[in-house]
Amino acid sequence: MSYLELAGLQKRYGASVAVDDVSLAVEKGEAVALLGPSGCGKTTTLRMLAGLVEPDRGAIRVDGIAMTNLPAHKRNMGYVFQSYALFPHLSVAGNVAFGLEERRRPKAEIARQVEDALALVRLAGLDQRRPRELSGGQQQRVALARALVIHPSVLLLDESLSNLDAKLRDAMRHEIRSIQRSLGITTLFVTHDQVEALTMCDRIAVMHRGRIAQIGTAEDIYERPATRFVAEFVGRANALPATRGPDGKVLLWNEPQPVAAPASGEFDVFVRPQRMRIVPLSEAVGSENVRVSGRILRSVFVGDHVEVLVEGAGGQLTVEMPSGSPALAEGAEVAVIWRAQDSLPFPREAP
Ligand code: ATP
Repeated sequence: MSYLELAGLQKRYGASVAVDDVSLAVEKGEAVALLGPSGCGKTTTLRMLAGLVEPDRGAIRVDGIAMTNLPAHKRNMGYVFQSYALFPHLSVAGNVAFGLEERRRPKAEIARQVEDALALVRLAGLDQRRPRELSGGQQQRVALARALVIHPSVLLLDESLSNLDAKLRDAMRHEIRSIQRSLGITTLFVTHDQVEALTMCDRIAVMHRGRIAQIGTAEDIYERPATRFVAEFVGRANALPATRGPDGKVLLWNEPQPVAAPASGEFDVFVRPQRMRIVPLSEAVGSENVRVSGRILRSVFVGDHVEVLVEGAGGQLTVEMPSGSPALAEGAEVAVIWRAQDSLPFPREAP
């Protein structure tokens, strides 16, 4: 049994299914990201956990205890909203104290807990300010302190960094992650930003159209995407249209390749740009490699690597070369190679 369990959760709005049979098991102390594009059902899932949206079907358990029919305030979950949802008329301390006052804790205990929570998020000394007198990052910290002060069994974060500028967001990611780890608090984190998911979580659940398309570590998802959607959504990928030769062999850009094909139907072969290399046309290539040939359209230096756009019989592809690689002349005829095992075949989607 896992600490946090979601079993077959479903939520419909009229004819549309926002969340469709979502099951997920999270271990104690683990941080899991719900990652997916806008509208895939991330927030609805989180809100069902928090008790803010009632599921049509399914169950939520924390430490073996059924939460599904408990009101939000009895679930002991800390929720950080995207907009922070701070009370504008209350001070920082008043905002953080809110959950404890609601639980009718003694005054002295509240004061101590609020102080601890503000120290944890590095806001000590700002307790009498109003939210409007704080920067975005500071407001974010207040929202986090307010969620943590009740010692929640589960922490829920909904796109809570998306209002911060890039630099601050990056700093907060690391800070929240280190607080989450030091407290050992079980966390579910909603984001559509893959870097956020990668830096802040132990595992990622990729959501697509109300369902979990894949759950695993960042490496699992990047190296072994379970579906075409996951391959496209997480990281970059070239999709090469594949055909079958008369002998059943897979052809990429009209050349036979050592790539396994699905049993039937049309498909594309996905390859990460960093897994590809550019070599001279004359270079001998071992049978464990895939090789296509083309012409260099463009080569762009982007700091830590060089992006090379190659055009061939089946379209264009991008190769990511380490910076410092020998310069490649535009128009040069080259071969692009990669290991056969780095080819990920996925059925072609209906247009
Ligand atoms: P975003 O990243 O844009 O917040 P999301 O993945 O969190 O998206 P949800 O907010 O969970 O997605 O929404 C999932 C689907 O359910 C969407 O199609 C949305 O329009 C719909 N939906 C969500 N809440 C409601 C509601 N209260 N009434 C009707 N439809 C809703």
